[in-house]
Amino acid sequence: MHKIAVLPGDGIGPEVTAAAVEVLKRAAEKFSLELEFEHFDFGGAAIDAHGKPYPEETQRGVHAADATLLGAIGGPKWDNVPREIRAETGLLALRKDQGLYANLRPARVLEGLEELSPLKPELARGVDILIVRELTGGIYFGEPRGMSEAEGWNTMRYSRPEVERVAKVAFEAALKRRKKLTSVEKANVLEVGEFWRRTVAEVAQSYPEVSLQHQYVDAMAMHLITHPADFDVVVTSNIFGDILSDLSSVLPGSLGLLPSASLGEGVPLFEPVHGSAPDIAGKGMANPTAAILSAGMLATYALNRADVGDAIEMATAQALRTTRTPDLGGDASTTEFTKTVIAALGG
Ligand code: ATP
Repeated sequence: MHKIAVLPGDGIGPEVTAAAVEVLKRAAEKFSLELEFEHFDFGGAAIDAHGKPYPEETQRGVHAADATLLGAIGGPKWDNVPREIRAETGLLALRKDQGLYANLRPARVLEGLEELSPLKPELARGVDILIVRELTGGIYFGEPRGMSEAEGWNTMRYSRPEVERVAKVAFEAALKRRKKLTSVEKANVLEVGEFWRRTVAEVAQSYPEVSLQHQYVDAMAMHLITHPADFDVVVTSNIFGDILSDLSSVLPGSLGLLPSASLGEGVPLFEPVHGSAPDIAGKGMANPTAAILSAGMLATYALNRADVGDAIEMATAQALRTTRTPDLGGDASTTEFTKTVIAALGG
């Protein structure tokens, strides 16, 4: 029995997570998985009900679960609440609480959907990249940091365990995919980059099946546009991952298509990359693809059932060939699209 904490959140969050839960329930029946879902308030919804975005009851629910499935949080209604109880503060607290140090963002151009990509179809075809970003270290957290009248400074610093553990996540992910890993840094200029490169190369010795390549971040930015289909898994530091994952996220052509996973010491978290999209909330027109694909990642990475994750991904790709929500130029509702995915999953 696997316990899943569902945090629907705000805006379109509840609509897209309901779709993802339905798909997971169908997949569970088909693959004889036992899943138990429990819903908790999070984000703005929790501020309204409990006066804070990540209340104790939700924390307990997440701690007791095998995985967390999150919708989206925030919206104009909560923009003016004090900083310490902002919806986003809840998400940072959850990540910190669970020690989620690796953020996985796949960017895949689905067959038949090449025309949505801003790249020429011949470049977009076959793109299937997974960016693994280090999430809790690097220049965003390094000390010393500060600013005076005369200067501003930050420190990019990585310890061996920090690089090793995120590299392991990336090698393990590569084993579940096409067994290619690209490690990205700036070893020609930064000592921390050279240290990153050496440490990843050491970890590689435990993964002889995976082919490892090193790239400088500036060259990588070019390659992601000129031949994105060449890459499989990419592992990089917090700041380079922030930039490269945003760059690669535009390749599939719509925010509504992008799932994510955050893995680490505690309960892993799965959520769409998009936000709460208050402009379309409650209208039944949100694209649930990103949430459904996040549920697929949950099966692969939290339940260690890549077969189930692959089946969810294939059913979603098949559904997208015939049925599309308005953001992709179609007229299907969230529910119609979800039913099509469930039908494609089959019995
Ligand atoms: P945040 O700051 O919370 O990440 P944001 O304001 O940057 O959010 P989103 O809420 O992700 O952006 O979305 C921007 C716009 O993209 C939305 O207003 C909506 O029109 C569209 N959008 C995002 N996600 C979806 C989706 N799943 N289905 C349909 N349209 C979407």
